[in-house]
Amino acid sequence: MTKAKICFIGAGNMPRAIIGGLVASGYDPHLIHATNPSAPKLDAMRADFGIHTSHDNLAAARDADVVVLSVKPQLMEAVCRELSPAIDKQLLITIAAGIPERRYHDYFGKQVKLIRTMPNTPMLLGLGMTGLYAPAKIGEADRALAGMLMQSCGDILWVEKEEDINKVIALAGSSPAYFFLFVEAMVEAGMALNMTEEAARHLAQQAAVGAAAMMKANPKQSLAQLREAVTSKGGTTAQAIATFEQGGLRPLVKQAMGNCIKRAEEMA
Ligand code: NAD
Repeated sequence: MTKAKICFIGAGNMPRAIIGGLVASGYDPHLIHATNPSAPKLDAMRADFGIHTSHDNLAAARDADVVVLSVKPQLMEAVCRELSPAIDKQLLITIAAGIPERRYHDYFGKQVKLIRTMPNTPMLLGLGMTGLYAPAKIGEADRALAGMLMQSCGDILWVEKEEDINKVIALAGSSPAYFFLFVEAMVEAGMALNMTEEAARHLAQQAAVGAAAMMKANPKQSLAQLREAVTSKGGTTAQAIATFEQGGLRPLVKQAMGNCIKRAEEMA
């Protein structure tokens, strides 16, 4: 395992998930440093993972081989400008949504080595899906480091073109919310049939977990095959599926994802 010193600028939920994954996978916590303006999050990370913490972004970045930029997008420019004097050969990894790679060179006032990543919230449970993009000049060792980092709490997928990061947002970054919406709608329908919310949620949620596990356990079966295996001709499921199809579920999903991508492009 690499001995790179990794520093996280901003100690919010996402870094917490990544650091938790790294430490659980055997990464030396003494090689990890997190910074944040306020103490409580740092105290919790130090107690939980045994990593270094501080309020000093510049000193932490200067001492690191890899700097993970994990503040909110609206704070990114100010943080990069502050960090600039400390940045020389370090690999920078950003988890911020929406900011194109080229803009970081302006923020730092010089050419930097940067990999863009787009994680999602199931990372908090080690079930994340992260898309990564690196410009051509980034070497194999740096790509491997970024991959190792994000793989510590889920799956990863490299994209060739930066614009494809917006497709990652539509398929994985935003999509946990689509599934929540679908289950929410099922629970509401259950409640309209006089079930308690608790019972309806239990049934719908466990079905979602089971369906997700079946997709993962059967990668050779197409999604249509998995669906057809639960759908006997003329049966109950067939009635429900036909209703979704007639109601335009597929074009609606396409439209929703298209609008998601459009919004990501507007924000860039
Ligand atoms: P968060 O608000 O939980 O964490 C950000 C942290 O940065 C806070 O603890 C804040 O105190 C700290 N901070 C603020 N100013 C700072 C400074 N000058 N120096 C150091 N730390 C500073 O946010 P989050 O949900 O962890 O998101 C962080 C990044 O991850 C964002 O850029 C977001 O776009 C990206 N992201 C989030 C999600 C998500 O679903 N939450 C998904 C993909 C990407």
